[in-house]
Amino acid sequence: MTDRISCINPSCRRTAPREKFPDSRYIICRGCWNKLPSRIKDRWNAIKTRRRIFDRLVRKPKFTVDVRLEQWRRIDRRMTIAESALDASILHFFTAGESPAGLESFMKEIGIDR
Ligand SMILES: [Zn+2]
Repeated sequence: MTDRISCINPSCRRTAPREKFPDSRYIICRGCWNKLPSRIKDRWNAIKTRRRIFDRLVRKPKFTVDVRLEQWRRIDRRMTIAESALDASILHFFTAGESPAGLESFMKEIGIDR
């Protein structure tokens, strides 16, 4: 295993040290971040804010009671799904240009939308 993690954009060759981002599968470099449409950046910021709030609340003693455990797990699962969907949409943004023209609409038409 390498000690560097790569940028989410497959055509970008930038990497970052893993010890700086131990929980991340990807980084996004400044150059690629600037290429993203504001719709994706807004979603990113909303998800990161929500994650920070969650991480802060889950440590509060009044919320760490056992009855809350299943609720926290459920919220955590939903946030993980949202984060994966965001990763997928960023990846799609960077790779969509490489698909042959017309493939996208054909896949939508037959119901295999990425
Ligand atoms: Zn990059």
